Amino acid sequence: MQIKTTIIGAGVVGLAVAARLAEKHGPLLVIERNPSIGQETSSRNSEVVHAGIYYPRGSLKARLCIQGRKMLYALCRKARIAHCQCGKIIVATDRDEEQRLEDIKQRAEANGVHDLRLLTASQVNQMEPNVKAVAALLSPSTGIIDSHRLMRHLAARAQKNKAHFFFETNVESLERRSDGRYQIVVKYRDGQTDTFSSRQVVNCAGLEADRIAAKAGIDIDACKYRQYYWKGEYFSCDLPAGYIKRLVYPVPLPANVGLGIHATIDLGGRIKLGPNTIYLPEKQYDYTVDAQNSKLFHQAAQRYLPGLRKEQLQPEMAGIRPKLQKPGDGVRDFILEEESAKGLAGLINCIGIESPGLTSCLAIAEYVASLLEKNTATGK
Ligand SMILES: Cc1cc2nc3c(=O)[nH]c(=O)nc-3n(C[C@H](O)[C@H](O)[C@H](O)COP(=O)(O)OP(=O)(O)OC[C@H]3O[C@@H](n4cnc5c(N)ncnc54)[C@H](O)[C@@H]3O)c2cc1C
Repeated sequence: MQIKTTIIGAGVVGLAVAARLAEKHGPLLVIERNPSIGQETSSRNSEVVHAGIYYPRGSLKARLCIQGRKMLYALCRKARIAHCQCGKIIVATDRDEEQRLEDIKQRAEANGVHDLRLLTASQVNQMEPNVKAVAALLSPSTGIIDSHRLMRHLAARAQKNKAHFFFETNVESLERRSDGRYQIVVKYRDGQTDTFSSRQVVNCAGLEADRIAAKAGIDIDACKYRQYYWKGEYFSCDLPAGYIKRLVYPVPLPANVGLGIHATIDLGGRIKLGPNTIYLPEKQYDYTVDAQNSKLFHQAAQRYLPGLRKEQLQPEMAGIRPKLQKPGDGVRDFILEEESAKGLAGLINCIGIESPGLTSCLAIAEYVASLLEKNTATGK
């Protein structure tokens, strides 16, 4: 079978890329090892549409989060995808944290997020009577989205434009041939293998994205493409709907690898706490939630939700972040690379797509499309 473009992975990023490319690039193939779309990280997250507050200025994370957020809200309105621009507050629970709110505001403004507002303790109390804070930052553009509905919409759009989906199909090997096409060997659920070729390949394999790049012959250590797994657990809270009306985040610690245990609401008004950040050195797919961690979650959340009782917490679910840093490493950006410089023209790698990958998915798809168009224009 001869294909022009193959996308590996049907998470939210692969689906956004498929929907975008199918419109202009014609028939394409999406290969997914699971029986259906979005069964891994894309369905194990907070479903928050981030504003773009914390990321380093000029980074892909900052730029694509802001662009992606605007695109996502526009798409949700147009396609009637359930979402709510409920806003979020970042709460300072002591004077030291209060000082850091101004830094966060300045960083957000440097990124182009100009709608953050500082709130006094009494303003917080008026808006969120169950939240305790000495001060807070309000982010009105933060929201929540039904990520499953989003993924179904993207998959349907891709299929309408003649994208073919192969489910329960694992990419076993990926090799650039002398004619410039990529030879892809896949294995189906029944153990049968198949081989076909594709002119372009977009690697959106999430937790496996570095391994796919390695299969194509890239030295993932030399290129700093190696991913490390960090689990994030969630606990649901048995609290009445409306207990909080906005997402509530703590002030992140300076060297934190996550945003701190926050309280999110889903579209049904259910409140959950999480995620924490647990390094998984063996890179195992460990989605268990340790019930004993409820004590730590309770302690963390009680600082800003003093009325929350420990017995109201129940283990809910976990997700795994494909980070480019291991413990002690500095902040890293998304990797979105067209690999001509490595002798792999037409291969696009999307690596380290942790948060805000859901928020950024439509902007990532635009970025990938522009990389492919540049590659085609230069005739590589
Ligand atoms: C705890 C947690 C909380 C988060 N919260 C948020 C949030 O609130 N807001 C936000 O914007 N982002 C959030 N994120 C990040 C967001 O979930 C991810 O960035 C996004 O889902 C990544 O999508 P993806 O398509 O790249 O990866 P995935 O969803 O992992 O999809 C990759 C797909 O590739 C497939 N695949 C892998 N290898 C192969 C192979 N060899 N052959 C065939 N198929 C293969 C997999 O089966 C999978 O379906 C969070 C992440 C975590 C872990």
